[in-house]
Amino acid sequence: MEEDHEVSTKDVAVETVRGPRPISELGRVLSHEHVVMLSDWNQLEYPEFAFPEGRDAAVRKINTRLKELKAAGIDSMIDCTACGHGRDIALLAEANRDVDFNIVVSTGIYTYDELPFPFKRFGPGPGEGREQDLMARMFLKDIREGIAGSGIKAGAIKVCTDRQGVTPNIDRILRVAAVVHRMTGVPITTHTNAAGKVGLDQQRIFAEEGVDLACVTIGHSGDSSDLDYLRSLMEAGSMIGADRFGFVMPGQPGLDQRVATVAALVRDGFADRIVLSHDATIHTDWWPDDPERSGFPADWTQLLIPQEVLPRLAKAGVSEADIEKMLVANPARWLAPVSPY
Ligand SMILES: [Zn+2]
Repeated sequence: MEEDHEVSTKDVAVETVRGPRPISELGRVLSHEHVVMLSDWNQLEYPEFAFPEGRDAAVRKINTRLKELKAAGIDSMIDCTACGHGRDIALLAEANRDVDFNIVVSTGIYTYDELPFPFKRFGPGPGEGREQDLMARMFLKDIREGIAGSGIKAGAIKVCTDRQGVTPNIDRILRVAAVVHRMTGVPITTHTNAAGKVGLDQQRIFAEEGVDLACVTIGHSGDSSDLDYLRSLMEAGSMIGADRFGFVMPGQPGLDQRVATVAALVRDGFADRIVLSHDATIHTDWWPDDPERSGFPADWTQLLIPQEVLPRLAKAGVSEADIEKMLVANPARWLAPVSPY
């Protein structure tokens, strides 16, 4: 399977907001970001709260940030915004139109347990497989036809397991993601509660469903400094996301610790299993822009890696070649769709 990944990256294309792009042309990729995150209540009925300065201002804000990223040497990002997370594909298309920057978008479900009512009664019927589950049909539509009539196809499947662990709803979502991955070859990216080591539970369920764990990125692993936990995720074949640089919350490692963890794992020979990102958002109605009011650091933006993290990694002894692996080769290998299996 690993070899298949290597071979396919050369000539395979990945779906992006601006259409299919050759994997070899993605350049430096941030592995887990968000362009917009909106609450569906505001999205549907209170646009003045979703876009306090107007929708056009949000388009300009995103457009400017994408240009800043390109100027800072970042060429692509994987937008891990799934259903329940406030996707707005039309907004992305508008903001990305005139910028040479690749955004891979996701299908999947963002929840730590609860599911909206339709999912209670629209599971697979008697004798039907998981591909008949309402959520599987949603994921397949996003991957095969595109999201919300845009024709823009999902290039990743995003699922979550948080503090609550693998509840029955989360178990169902993970197994549907596995089935859809195997039907389409589109890779899986996850949100985890790293302190609870739930990445191991995700791997166990994906493995039970026959998933090649090389096709899975266990996200938010950089929230943990437990090297044994992180090594075991990678030894099982997955990529890990050191993907919350700049995110500072009580109980979370600070920037120095996040850099030290990546440097230690690279010294251990794991540079080909780590991807880098911030899990930052360009426009959201989940918290105010003002850091004083949001409680999040002002520098928690997608510019922190090029401006601050890469020099710190270099200072910690990480070579330019290993940085390029984490930003270019690893995301390319993971994103390259495999043949259905
Ligand atoms: Zn995220």
